Amino acid sequence: NAAPSPEAKVTPMMEQYLELKNAHADCMLFYRMGDFYELFFKDAEDAARTLGITLTKRGKHLGEDIPMCGVPVERSDDYLMRLIAAGYRVAVCEQIEDPAEAKKRGGKSVVKRDVVRLVTPGTLTEEALLEPKRANNLVAVSRLFSGEEEARYGLAWIDVSTGGFGVVELGEGSLGAEIARLDPAEVVAAEAVANDEVLRDAAMGCGATISPVGRDLAEGPGAERRLAEHFGVSTLEGFGTFSRAEIGAAALAVSYVERMWRGTRPPLSAPVRAARGSTVEIDAATRANLELTRTLSGERKGSLLATIDRTVTAAGGRLLADWLAGPLTDPKAIEGRLDAVTRIAEDLLFRRRLRDALSAAPDLSRALTRIAVGRCGPRDLAGIRDGLAAARAVAGFVREDEPAAIRRAADALSAVDAVVEQSLAGALADDLPLKLSDGGFIRLGFDGTLDEQRQLRDESRRVIADMQARYAELAGARTLRIKHTNFLGYFVEVPAEKGEELRRPPLSATFIHRQTLQGAMRFSTADLSDLEARIAAAGQRSLAIEQKIFAELAGLVMTHEAAIRAASDALAALDVAASLAELAVERRWVRPQIDSSLAFDIRGGRHPVVEAAVAAAGETFVANDADLSPPQNLESGRIWLITGPNMAGKSTFLRQNALIAILAQMGSYVPATSAHIGVVDRLFSRVGAADDLARGRSTFMVEMVETAAILNQATPCSLVILDEIGRGTATFDGLSIAWAAIEHLHEVNRCRSLFATHFHELTQLTKRLPRLHNVTVRVTEWNGDVVFLHEVVPGAADRSYGVQVAKLAGLPSAVVERARIILAELEAAERGASVETLIDDLPLFAARPAASPTAGAPHPALEALDAIDPDELTPRAAQDALYRLKQLL
Ligand code: ADP
Repeated sequence: NAAPSPEAKVTPMMEQYLELKNAHADCMLFYRMGDFYELFFKDAEDAARTLGITLTKRGKHLGEDIPMCGVPVERSDDYLMRLIAAGYRVAVCEQIEDPAEAKKRGGKSVVKRDVVRLVTPGTLTEEALLEPKRANNLVAVSRLFSGEEEARYGLAWIDVSTGGFGVVELGEGSLGAEIARLDPAEVVAAEAVANDEVLRDAAMGCGATISPVGRDLAEGPGAERRLAEHFGVSTLEGFGTFSRAEIGAAALAVSYVERMWRGTRPPLSAPVRAARGSTVEIDAATRANLELTRTLSGERKGSLLATIDRTVTAAGGRLLADWLAGPLTDPKAIEGRLDAVTRIAEDLLFRRRLRDALSAAPDLSRALTRIAVGRCGPRDLAGIRDGLAAARAVAGFVREDEPAAIRRAADALSAVDAVVEQSLAGALADDLPLKLSDGGFIRLGFDGTLDEQRQLRDESRRVIADMQARYAELAGARTLRIKHTNFLGYFVEVPAEKGEELRRPPLSATFIHRQTLQGAMRFSTADLSDLEARIAAAGQRSLAIEQKIFAELAGLVMTHEAAIRAASDALAALDVAASLAELAVERRWVRPQIDSSLAFDIRGGRHPVVEAAVAAAGETFVANDADLSPPQNLESGRIWLITGPNMAGKSTFLRQNALIAILAQMGSYVPATSAHIGVVDRLFSRVGAADDLARGRSTFMVEMVETAAILNQATPCSLVILDEIGRGTATFDGLSIAWAAIEHLHEVNRCRSLFATHFHELTQLTKRLPRLHNVTVRVTEWNGDVVFLHEVVPGAADRSYGVQVAKLAGLPSAVVERARIILAELEAAERGASVETLIDDLPLFAARPAASPTAGAPHPALEALDAIDPDELTPRAAQDALYRLKQLL
């Protein structure tokens, strides 16, 4: 996207343009010319295409027409947003002097211009550019290698629109999951780190822009100093202890925003260090597959978030998404949230009043940020005023004996000095203009001098109106009118024939001819010009006074920034609690029992999203139990092996239990009649299969990569759901892999798991594995058709009904009939060598000594086997080796 290089004969303006463009070659340049931002060359072509606006030309460069398009400054936000969404970065170049100054310099002097801001997805503050209910996170990643160990990553996230700032350090294994949790709009990292495959995948998964930066920003021993400087402290110790990787990432994030804002500092809260393990780790694939915040097709609608969202404020919506993305692992913290939800759910009146008061609260924290960086208008101050009024209202009806979470919130709400709200309410007018420069936002009666100036202006206008009658009499023209245009200012207009009279003495002594139009003539007078100047002066003076008052009010708000932010957070927290309470009552959900056991006992569980869809279709969702709690006398949780034909409801059952765990640990009630959950530390899933063609991975490869991650990482506290492992390959391959995976989960990971499969052979494994249980989703046959009952019951499916399901799907009846016959033949042929005998013949899965707590010294045959390199053996030698191995047994 580089601009052509400047040439000797370019115009001075073009020269200036090219210089700025070359300095920001990776951005589209919005070049300010009067009321427009103009784009030239390739920028113009790209923008015209993306925005659907007209491409024109202006002058020539190196003998070629210069393509150009423009967007009006007034509506530039909208265009900016569309370009950012399309993946562009935009450099906004303004005129930084009055054009009159350039004229004074004379000759071919052009107005001085400079880039005042770089607009990127992660550094936005404008209301029009942001989604109200989505945090706009910028994530900075630093990487450290120390000695032999695997790399450590520092991760810092900033939401400049609200000032939120957090850091964490983690290993490569958790990087993807953490990025997915933060769901950033933009990820910045040093070039080498930005090319890291895990980072790229995770960023792309959330649709985030990746912004690689040079070493000057990304590195440097100065990181700690830069951060301290930003917060105006001499050392970071006051904020807590941070690792080197964390400091590196935090400094990168802050410096990046400052660079994009050309030196303006984002107002940030002190960095909060996320305690590792305080939230459930959920990898990106699992988040995507469970459709937590968006569906697989990328929409919010149809996601769990959209289904449960009853928040009434934007900040509440963002916090709900944040809670859902990071369910807690500390039972006490979860109970604290649940207590608040219970209190609000049980008191209808309280809930109504709370939600009514909350719904009047505008987005305090984003308005606060715009005020802090001076990108604000009168309505941002009004936002603070109304938000504080809502805070006062809410604090007013919170009782003394509320649960701690509500009490804490109420304290924050009443901690803001009343003077802020009173001053804003006293000063701001009822109807507010959008922009500061429009004036008229200070209430009449607030400031004496301001009112005087306004009176002067209004009186002059009245005097002008009176003059019309006087002039009409003087000129003897009843149709004489006084009018106003921006170009002429105030003038007198009369019909053309009357105009000729006015141009002659004696009237010409008063009326000065200005313009002749078709059928009319326009004149000015000394008195009119005089009044006009007075109006303009009064207008300017009152605007200056208004802006001074505005600055004072903004200053007042900023001195109470911390308290207002705390109140804003409290409103959001109450909104989320009230929203979850509303949902619980509306959908008849129950409060889960949470502790640090390994229990997982769900009675009458439902899938929150599918239930709504099924209900909309006029049917009833069948509730199902799931019990993965450790059986008596055993210390680890169970594995449920679920069989049943396609379409029976296996996937739905798997997912609903994962969703119930997430909901419970985020502090929500759950769709069940009762639920007892020992907190889950990590949630793994292998559900739904999608080719990852972009990376050249087949469905099977994706499946195996994800399965590997689970078998390598799941702990006894984890919850694992696996859907149809081994489906993507030949039957015996698939069966063997599924079989070995179950044994590994049972013996090594020892985690609570749900395992859906169509390999009925696996149901035999319960004979060997004491914590494995068979369940099946019931179906019956009716007139040769399969009927799905969606009921999960103990036992194994007797057959797969594949042919019947195919018939339901509309396969031609001739094909269905033929398939039935082939199936019968195949089944008859197979009956001889049953898998049951195979189960009995094969020794139980033996984990490698390091991994298995049960295995003793290795068998000599294994050692001999280990010493063999198959690639080195001739077929003959291989056969010999086999004989030797047999002898060792
Ligand atoms: P499977 O994974 O066994 O192929 P799914 O879980 O995809 O089956 O379910 C298929 C369809 O059956 C779902 O889209 C839903 O409409 C319906 N369904 C699933 N579970 C239930 C249930 N418990 N109650 C009612 N309908 C259900």
